[in-house]
Amino acid sequence: MNIDNNHIWHPYNSLPSKTPILNVASTNKCTITLKDGRELVDGMSSWWSAIHGYNNQYLDDALKKQIDEMPHIMFGGLTHDPSIKLTKKLLKILPKGLEKVFYADSGSVSIEVALKTALLYQKARNKPNKKRFLSVFGGYHGDTLGAMSICDPINSMHSLYREYLPQNIFAKMPSINNDSDDIEDLEEKFQNYHEEIAGFIIEPIVQGAGGMRIYRPQYLKRARELCDKYDVLFIVDEIATGFGHTGKMFAVEHASVIPDIMTIGKALSGGYMSFGAMVCTGKISDTISSNPPYALMHGPTFMGNALACAVSLASIELLLNSDWQAKVKNIEAHLSNELGELKSLNIVKDVRVIGCIGVVELTTSEFANTLQSEVVKQGVWLRPFGKLLYTIPAYIISQEELYSITNTMKSVIKKVDSERN
Ligand SMILES: *Cc1c(COP(=O)(O)O)cnc(C)c1O
Repeated sequence: MNIDNNHIWHPYNSLPSKTPILNVASTNKCTITLKDGRELVDGMSSWWSAIHGYNNQYLDDALKKQIDEMPHIMFGGLTHDPSIKLTKKLLKILPKGLEKVFYADSGSVSIEVALKTALLYQKARNKPNKKRFLSVFGGYHGDTLGAMSICDPINSMHSLYREYLPQNIFAKMPSINNDSDDIEDLEEKFQNYHEEIAGFIIEPIVQGAGGMRIYRPQYLKRARELCDKYDVLFIVDEIATGFGHTGKMFAVEHASVIPDIMTIGKALSGGYMSFGAMVCTGKISDTISSNPPYALMHGPTFMGNALACAVSLASIELLLNSDWQAKVKNIEAHLSNELGELKSLNIVKDVRVIGCIGVVELTTSEFANTLQSEVVKQGVWLRPFGKLLYTIPAYIISQEELYSITNTMKSVIKKVDSERN
């Protein structure tokens, strides 16, 4: 009996799955080896997380050392050096002023904690009416209910869960063509709703799973000003963009703005474990801590997991000791040079590149399944969704592997383009 097909859910899927699920036997650097022996070049870094590739010796050693000392201990009333060392390291790389850290067990949970923190902060300041969030169309912040309520309300799961979701406010998508009506709309939303808004939340510079959209830093600068003007917390979700993906350690650096709250995850643990964190300013933590209920009311069982802290520390050390900026620049140049030519095809609507993120947007979503099977046939792992075929390779990828990925993307897109014409 096929256990996977009969008993195991996969993301956003039916059970059994209507599309093939490949069984992976092992990984190494940027190679995925399937159980049937096929090898695939990994163009996804497991959804933005495995920035150093798979099975990195330094990360492996950090985990092995930690597991012998202590795999996990509850965080209530107890602490440990892995969390202290990781925090010290994070304080060195986080935007100045973000200095209070809450370790959560995933990206979505860190979003929940960010929302709860913002609500508690406003309550503590005697602003109980500030109890909704302002977000933008096209956003993605995770799949838990609170996180879902700030995701794009149209192309997301709102239609499935609307009756149960908190009602938030959405401004126009940040423009990817530098039109200014996005900022005008944002100003209007702030003006009309600021008395109800606890925080404005956005993915900085790149909207990821909501459409892989890259927008200008100016938008974030204006958002920061509006948050100050209208007494609204500025929350940025760096779960996807953080740790170098856009060419800066954190994407907010493109705009030189500092948020009040930031969430991190995905590449935080180098892609080894589910882990995330909410970080905020001292002003926020002081306000919550000196007013009823005098506490940030959240506490996951696996909060501050020692293994996750140890591997995250090792991952950041590895990143800082590497020439990551040059590597990401090189990937960016390659993706721009190689994918740019696709723009001339009828089936291609847009090609977008920033840092190690390369996106081809098609005019239609009808080929997603075809593209998926074609790229695997050509020995590459990519996961198209909707109209998008995109890659986010590990920073350590070789030039040869990069060519495999971009050549495959070009070849499969040209193929569906020619079949359609
Ligand atoms: C992936 C993602 C999340 C959710 O993180 P999980 O670890 O999957 O819960 C939240 N925000 C952004 C921007 C993401 O890309």
